[in-house]
Amino acid sequence: MSELHYQLDLLKAMNQKLTDKERMYHAVCESAEGAFLYFSLDKNQISTLGHWKDFFDFDVRDAADVQRILDEVDDSSLMELQKTIYLEKTGTETDSVECRLKSRGLWLQFQTRVFYDQDLRPTDKVIHISNITKQRYRDDELLYMAYYDSLTGLYNRNYFVRLLSEYVRNAEETNSIVSVMNIDIDEFNKVNDGLGIVMGDELIQQFGMFLKELCQDNMIACHLHRDVFCIAIYDPAGQKTTEHIYTAIRDRLKEPFRLSNGSDIAITVSVGVAEYPEASRSALELINCAELAVFRVKSAGRNGIQYFNAPILDDFLNSVDLENRLKQAIYNKDFILYYQPQYYAGNKRLRGVEALVRWRDSDGEIISPGTFIPVAEKNGSIVSIGKWVVEESIRQYACWRRQFGFSFIMSINISALQYKKDNFVPFLLSVLEKYHVSPSEVELEITESILIDDFGAVIEKLKILRGYGIRISLDDFGTGFSSLSYLKKLPIDTLKIDKSFIDTVITDNSTRVITESILSMVKALGFESIAEGVEEEQQYKYLYAIGCDVIQGYLFSRPLPPEEMEKLIAGSLC
Ligand code: C2E
Ligand code: CA
Ligand code: CA
Repeated sequence: MSELHYQLDLLKAMNQKLTDKERMYHAVCESAEGAFLYFSLDKNQISTLGHWKDFFDFDVRDAADVQRILDEVDDSSLMELQKTIYLEKTGTETDSVECRLKSRGLWLQFQTRVFYDQDLRPTDKVIHISNITKQRYRDDELLYMAYYDSLTGLYNRNYFVRLLSEYVRNAEETNSIVSVMNIDIDEFNKVNDGLGIVMGDELIQQFGMFLKELCQDNMIACHLHRDVFCIAIYDPAGQKTTEHIYTAIRDRLKEPFRLSNGSDIAITVSVGVAEYPEASRSALELINCAELAVFRVKSAGRNGIQYFNAPILDDFLNSVDLENRLKQAIYNKDFILYYQPQYYAGNKRLRGVEALVRWRDSDGEIISPGTFIPVAEKNGSIVSIGKWVVEESIRQYACWRRQFGFSFIMSINISALQYKKDNFVPFLLSVLEKYHVSPSEVELEITESILIDDFGAVIEKLKILRGYGIRISLDDFGTGFSSLSYLKKLPIDTLKIDKSFIDTVITDNSTRVITESILSMVKALGFESIAEGVEEEQQYKYLYAIGCDVIQGYLFSRPLPPEEMEKLIAGSLC
């Protein structure tokens, strides 16, 4: 009897131990992430633990329930999951399968582990199920981003280059042509500035979608950057597809794009084409060559197509060379100023001089600003050059005034980039102070290009400058957008009528009419007028007769180096 009691107690104690253990298993599983499917292989039992209900709304007790799990899973990973669940593995390493649940869209990871007894017979199997939905979508997104541009859905640059390289390899084998078209939306800035970035993006999106639809077999399109797209065409039949594509684009652009804010935007594009094998044998170089061809279209007035050729490459290499030499010139301060006199039309007395910069090359050759100023404007170095011009011209003026004892006006050309710098006004004032030059002895020549961006801010600065007594002259009048109506809003002192008017003022009747009306308006607004580029006596006489105040041009003098200008000023004193 006591033996029986003892055995009963032992059994109770063991049961207690078991339920304790079981409680512990449950506690551990509940606090772990995800759910567990447990197979006792020797007892042929199945149970679920942990957060099972997060994934499935049924419990699993037998093979039929297991089938319900498989029914829930997307077909693409079904076979693998079947293997994981039904096969008993050898070894103890975990095996993992990722599946999507059809009804709930969750991505689950099933990680299996099998346990063995001493004789290496499998006894238990645990499948840990975890929710990897977030990570999966992040991975998908990363994968998408690796190939596509998120704004347009077109290929991105990297993937495009890879695909283009394949085109080139195929073309090498089949002796055929690959064309790369670089498509650049003209004056996209205006859309962005006028309607905002969101509408700008929408335009890019719509245009990108149009290009996508345009692509047939053997064509790929990509959004290179901002407002630039690229299409590559593998053209084994040599069908001149680029021309068809260009025509299709132009036809589409006859109609404007309708944006979600209701505005209709009409655009034009500049297109450059480079072809394998003629232009290059490398994908990246083909893209670059097509881009160089686009620059050519842009500088010829936009809205056109240009095929890449050797002269385009030569020009580019020359401009790179020029740019490098210019950097060196800025470092060495290899510049000099020439001065061109301006005379009052009535008494031919000296009114002032215009400072015109020259670059003296290392071998003494004088390079004209027409060659290097556009390059300097493009790469921003005009700001350093311009600062040097301001300081040198004011220093020279102070010298001459001391030497000759009378005042005149020193006119200095100021580029838009230089003018827009925040420190432009304080810098100018500090130079004036340094050389004891009065602000009224200095005139800044600005062009209309200065007014393109923020009209209000530009006007404010002009007012500040004039407030100090500095004179402002509007240069090249008649070559820009030259609206007579904005003239009256401009706080300026002088207007320079561009040489292109002066050239034909004698020979062309309509030029005469325009010049006369400009002059009468200049008078009405109280500005002073200067005619520049006067080469002939007849032009001078006529301009004087119609009321032009000041004359500048080869008729009186070319721009002169300082020592010759000095003699000219000395002569004007006699
Ligand atoms: P601009 O300011 O319109 O200067 C007048 C240009 O016309 C000068 O050319 C001058 O030499 C030329 N010119 C003057 N009279 C005549 C004439 O009767 N006939 C002909 N055929 N030409 C005449 P330059 O010195 O080659 O300067 C060209 C342009 O370079 C200037 O045009 C100006 O836009 C720019 N530039 C010159 N110096 C500077 C500077 O210091 N800073 C900036 N930002 N630009 C400058
Ligand atoms: Ca000028
Ligand atoms: Ca001018």
